[in-house]
Amino acid sequence: TISPLDDMGLDITRSAGSRIDYHTEYEWSDALRGKMKAVFGIDNFRLCQHGVCNANMDRRDIICVMPTGGGKSLTYQLPALFVSGCTLVISPLISLMNDQILHLREAGVEAVMFTSSTSKEEAREIDNRLVAMAHGRSGSDADIKLCYVTPEKIAKNKAFMPLLEKLYKARKLERFVIDEAHCVSEAGHDYRPDYQKLNVLRKVFPKVPILALSATCPPKVMQDLMDVLQMKQPLHHGDRAGVDGTVYFTAPLYRKNLHYSVLPKPMSHKEMMNAMADYIMKHHADHSGIIYCLSKKDAETVSEDLSERRIKTGVYHADIGDSQKETLHQRWRQGLVKVVCATIAFGLGIDKGDVRFVLHHTIPKSVQGLYQESGRAGRDGHDADCVLYYRPQDFTRLSQLTVQEKGSRAKIHDILRFAQTLTECRNILFAKYFSSSSQISMSSWSTEEKGALEPCGHCDNCTRGSDGFVRRDVRLPAWQILRVAEVAQQTGKRFTINQLASVARGRSSGTSSAASKGKGKEKAGMDLDEIAGGAVELSNDDVEALCVDMLINGYLKEEYHSQSYGINVYVVAGAKAVRLSRFSREDIEQGKGPEMEYCFLKKSRKKKGESIKSHKKTQATGGESLEANGLKRRRLTRS
Ligand code: ADP
Ligand code: MG
Repeated sequence: TISPLDDMGLDITRSAGSRIDYHTEYEWSDALRGKMKAVFGIDNFRLCQHGVCNANMDRRDIICVMPTGGGKSLTYQLPALFVSGCTLVISPLISLMNDQILHLREAGVEAVMFTSSTSKEEAREIDNRLVAMAHGRSGSDADIKLCYVTPEKIAKNKAFMPLLEKLYKARKLERFVIDEAHCVSEAGHDYRPDYQKLNVLRKVFPKVPILALSATCPPKVMQDLMDVLQMKQPLHHGDRAGVDGTVYFTAPLYRKNLHYSVLPKPMSHKEMMNAMADYIMKHHADHSGIIYCLSKKDAETVSEDLSERRIKTGVYHADIGDSQKETLHQRWRQGLVKVVCATIAFGLGIDKGDVRFVLHHTIPKSVQGLYQESGRAGRDGHDADCVLYYRPQDFTRLSQLTVQEKGSRAKIHDILRFAQTLTECRNILFAKYFSSSSQISMSSWSTEEKGALEPCGHCDNCTRGSDGFVRRDVRLPAWQILRVAEVAQQTGKRFTINQLASVARGRSSGTSSAASKGKGKEKAGMDLDEIAGGAVELSNDDVEALCVDMLINGYLKEEYHSQSYGINVYVVAGAKAVRLSRFSREDIEQGKGPEMEYCFLKKSRKKKGESIKSHKKTQATGGESLEANGLKRRRLTRS
C-alpha cells in the first residue's frame, strides 16, 4: 500500500513512528484523561486521538485524517484546555461551528465564534475579551479558549489580523486549527478560494503550530495543503532524529451501525438496474440513500433508469449547476427525492443524518474512497446499509479511467482485494488498510485505540458462514490461464481481463473491442488442448475472479495500450508468472508449483430476494457442473 506521503517522495515513517512515539503515555496523559472525562464525559480515546493530543501538547504541526464522526474535534478541544492562550479554529461552514460552540458551552468551555453573521455587539464583546487577554487583564476564567472563525475572517476582515497579532505578541495565540483542511486544494471537491489565503497565517505567525483536520486527504490534496499552509516538511530519509517536522496521523473508524456487504454485479445494465431497484424496494422502500457512480454519465443513466422503476431519484455531479444542486439538496431534505445518484462530487455539506443506504454502482477508485463515501450513511447512529456491487470486469474500466492518476494502480489492487475477500471482516479490512497506509503501524496503537479490531459480526463476511464459499486449490486453472496469456502474448494478441477469462474457458470473447485483429472465433480458435491441456473448467464468474486474484498477486499484470478512443488495459503475464508457468500440466496435476488457494463465492446458496443472479444462474449451470467434475478430477489426481 502506498501511503499518501510516500507518493510525495517523502519518508516520514520514522518521524513519529519510532523517533518520537506519540502513542505512549506522557507526563500529561493522566491529566488529559481526567479532563476528557470531566469536561466531555468521554472515558477512552478512540483511534489516534491520544496520539494527536500528545503531538498537539508537544506543539507540533499535525495533519490528522480521520473519517467523519471519528472525533477530530477532541484532538484540539481537549489540549486547548491545558494552555493559557487561545486556539483559533478555522471552519468552512457556520452550521458546523454552531454545533461545536453549543457543545462546548454546555461543557462549560469558553468558546466563541466570529463570522459574517455575528452581530456588531457580539463582535465588539469578543474583540474586547481578546484584547483583554492580550494585555493580560482578564481573569483566566474569562479567557477565550477556542475562537471559531470562517476563512473569510482571515482573508477579508481588516481588523481581525491586527487583533491576532496582539495576541501573538502576548504569546496568547496557541494554535491554528484548520478544519476540513482539504478545502485548500483545487484538487479536492470542496475547494474554497478563501482557504488559500490562510497562507498568511504561517507568514505572520511563524511560531504558532498548525493542526490540519480532514476526513479526505488524497496525496495531491495533502501536497497542496502542506504548501498552502506552509506546514513544516516531514522528515526526509536520513534526517536527524528529533527535528520538528509535521506529524501525520490517519485512522479508520468502526461504526457499528453500518452494515457492509459486497454483492455480485449482474452482467447487463438492465439486470443491474433491476437488482438495484429490487434491493431498494425490498429493504429501503421509503428511505433516503445515495448511489455512487463512476462517471457523470453513469449517474444520469442510473437515475433515469431507477426513476422508470418508480424510485424518486435526483442527480448530482460536478456539471450540475449551483442552483440545481441547491434545489436537489432541498428536495432531498424534504423527501421529494429519495435516492441521489451521484459521482464523488457529492460530499461536503451532506448534513442529512438519516441516509439509510449507500450503494456503489461500480467499485470506487480506492478503499479510502469506498470508506468515505459509504460513511455518509447512518450519521444519526441508526442502522444503515453500505453495498458495493462488484464484478471483476469493472477493473478494466476503472483502470482506463484512472490511468493518469499517480498511484492509481496500487489503489485499484487494494479495492479489488477488498471486494474479492470473502472471509475477513470488512471492518478489519478497513482497519488494516488504513494502518498500513499510515506511518503508524497497528502495533503502536494503544490497546484502547485498537478497539476497532474485533470482527464486527454483522458484515457480509462475518455472517457468510463456512457454507457460503468454497476454498479451492487453484494451481491448475491458474496455470491454464497463464498459459493462455503467455501464448497470446507470443502471438501478438492482447486480452482484457474478461476476454482472457472467456478464452481460457474455451468461449469466444464476444467483445468487439478485442485487441487482436481477428474476430472472436479466431481467438477462441486458440487451441486450448495444445496450449493448456484443455479449457478451464470453472464458471465465468469464478475464472474472472481468479484472474483478478492472479493480478493482485503478481501472476498477471496490467499492460496499457493507447487506442484512438483512449487507453485500453490488458492483462499479461506478471512478475511472478514463471513460478507457475515453468511447470508442465502434469507437474501441476501432481501438486507441484506454488501453493495457490482461492475462496470462491458459492452460488447455489442464494438469499431470497436476490434476483441479482437469477439470470446468470442459467448461464452458469454448465460451468458449475464442469466445475464439479474438475474438482473431482483434481482430487483423483492428487490422491
Ligand atoms: P469529526 O469532526 O471527526 O467528524 P466530531 O469531533 O464531531 O467528529 O465527533 C463526533 C462525535 O463523537 C461527537 O459527538 C463526539 O462527542 C464523539 N466522540 C469523540 N471522541 C469520542 C470518544 N473517544 N469516545 C466516544 N465518543 C467520542
Ligand atoms: Mg469535524
